[in-house]
Amino acid sequence: MEAPMKAILREITIKDICEGFVYNEFEGKGLFGLNGKLVIQPEYQRNYIYADGKRDVAVIESVIKGYPLGLIYFNKTGEDTYEVLDGQQRITSLGRFMTNKLDIIDAEGRNQNISSLAADIRERIEQTKLLVYICEGTETQIREWFRTINIAGIPLNEQEMLNATYYGPFVTKAKAEFSNSNNPLVQKWSAYMAGNVKRQDYLHAALSWVSRGDVASYMSKHRQDTDINELQTYFNSVIDWVSATFKDVYKEMCGREWGRLYEEYHTKAYMPDRLAKRVEELMTDERVTDKKGIFEFVLGEEKDTRLLHIRVFEKSTIRSVYMHQTQAARKAGISNCPLCAIGKDANRTRIYKETEMDADHVTAWSHGGSTTIGNCQMLCTTHNRAKGNK
Ligand SMILES: [Zn+2]
Repeated sequence: MEAPMKAILREITIKDICEGFVYNEFEGKGLFGLNGKLVIQPEYQRNYIYADGKRDVAVIESVIKGYPLGLIYFNKTGEDTYEVLDGQQRITSLGRFMTNKLDIIDAEGRNQNISSLAADIRERIEQTKLLVYICEGTETQIREWFRTINIAGIPLNEQEMLNATYYGPFVTKAKAEFSNSNNPLVQKWSAYMAGNVKRQDYLHAALSWVSRGDVASYMSKHRQDTDINELQTYFNSVIDWVSATFKDVYKEMCGREWGRLYEEYHTKAYMPDRLAKRVEELMTDERVTDKKGIFEFVLGEEKDTRLLHIRVFEKSTIRSVYMHQTQAARKAGISNCPLCAIGKDANRTRIYKETEMDADHVTAWSHGGSTTIGNCQMLCTTHNRAKGNK
């Protein structure tokens, strides 16, 4: 029997992978990287298809934003030589960017390449680590395995990859607490957490909260810690705060960004009884179409109604109110926007097209106004916007 296939996980910086990157402009192929030790496009690979100014740019933007690029697979072909099994598109996009052959557009709308970026951003891109599985085996084994992980198997999710990368005493302890379905606390937590304990979703949320979203750095920094005190204390503070603030438990509480909400609101005093009453009212209010937004809405003193996705008027309602209002306005010789009609400028007699108007709640939603025809009026876009901001 042949030897089993081996696969080890390594972190390689973008700088190292793109060292000595060669791009064949004519064939549109990334050829080599890793200082000549990596063949990026073996013959059997499909061509580089990301060069469309969208997918290639998205790769670079992901790196800048700190989003994970996903696993990359190398096949070990010699003592210190490799070829790319999966990740060719991403590596070629990175290589083109690092050699000034690909521009991105920054937040100000300017074209940027690696040389024109600020030094700190450039440094961050260069030092970003890619997770690379290096496989060693016969070609048949590798192809077989590769097909399995891609098609039949369940790919590792982000936290599972991070656990593999930063394995050590900290991960062991953290998993025993947060990925352990036998932990009696899991039942309590499940009221607020979404996802699957065993697939590390609770652990991922706990780490995101304590690290303010920078899980990889946090895990790297604490990798050799023999306790998880900070992680545990922070997590418990968040959960205790949520359960004390909201007396009743709703299924819509699962998976909210409790860490962020805790940071934003935990120093404010609330009256849990009053809060509970408001949440209940909003939960049963059929005009609120996004119940998940209720908790943040009430924590923020009910200022941001966008969180609730208030029901909008039916198209037929809008049409009929528009017709009715416009007919009456024509007869009276005034604008069909009631607010323009009482104004003093030239719009006083202007008849707007339906597309130039928006439906408005006469009695605002927040004052109990319903989303029915009797509470609908059409306003010109300008007036509706002005009213909506109040
Ligand atoms: Zn108007």
